[in-house]
Amino acid sequence: MKIGIMGGTFDPIHIGHLLLGEFAYEDFGLDEIWFLPNGNPPHKQTKEMEDALMHRVEMIRLAIKDVPYFKLCLHEAKETSHSYTYKTMRELNAIYPENEFYFILGADSLFAIEHWKYFREIFPTCIILAAMRDDKDAEDMRMQIHYLTQEYDARIELLRAPLLEISSTTIRKRAARGLRVYYMVPDAVADYIKKQHLYITKEKKSNGFRDN
Ligand code: ATP
Ligand code: MG
Repeated sequence: MKIGIMGGTFDPIHIGHLLLGEFAYEDFGLDEIWFLPNGNPPHKQTKEMEDALMHRVEMIRLAIKDVPYFKLCLHEAKETSHSYTYKTMRELNAIYPENEFYFILGADSLFAIEHWKYFREIFPTCIILAAMRDDKDAEDMRMQIHYLTQEYDARIELLRAPLLEISSTTIRKRAARGLRVYYMVPDAVADYIKKQHLYITKEKKSNGFRDN
C-alpha cells in the first residue's frame, strides 16, 4: 500500500493538516494517510504533558473519525524517548516492508529539515510531499526541492493544496483569549477544546473563564 505519513505535534490538529492529507491522498493515489502525533520528549514526562498528549491524540481521533482512509498512528506517541523522523521512518519501513511511505510536510518543515537529527537518513525511507505555507512562494519551494534533491538524492514532490494561513499556535492563542476556533478545526475538535478548557491558563480556568 501507498501510505502518506502526516507527522506533527497537532496541538491541536486543524484543517491545514487535514487538507494536506486529503490532497496528498487524492493527487498521489495513496491508500491511507496516517496521522502521526509526536510523543513527549523524555524530560517532559510530567502529568501535564501526559494530559496534553492524551488531548492531542483524542483531537486527532475526533477529526478523522468519519474518514476511512485517515488513520491514527501511535508509533511515536507510545514512545518514552524522543521522536525522530529518521528513526520512525526506518522503523515503519521495517514493520511494514510491503508499504511505500510518503512523508507529508509543510514549507516550514521542508526548510528546516537539514536541522533534523540524522536527516540524511530520512530520504531513502520515503518520498516527501511538500506543501506551500505562508511566506514561502512557489519559486522558493522549487529551489529548495531542487537543492535537497541534488544534495541528498531526496525524492520530493510538490503537494498542491489550498494555501491556509492557519497554525496550531494561532488556534491556541485564540482559545487562550476565549475566542472561538470553529471553522479552523473540525466542529468536534472545537467542541472538545471548549469542553476540556484547553489552552486556557490556570488562573483563567479557576475564574470560570469561558465556561459556557
Ligand atoms: P504550531 O504552530 O504549534 O507549530 P502547526 O500548525 O505548525 O503548529 P504542526 O503540528 O507543527 O502544526 O505541523 C505539522 C506539519 O503540518 C508540519 O509539516 C507543518 O509544516 C504542516 N502544516 C501545519 N499547518 C499547515 C498549513 N496551514 N499549511 C501547510 N502546512 C501546514
Ligand atoms: Mg509547526
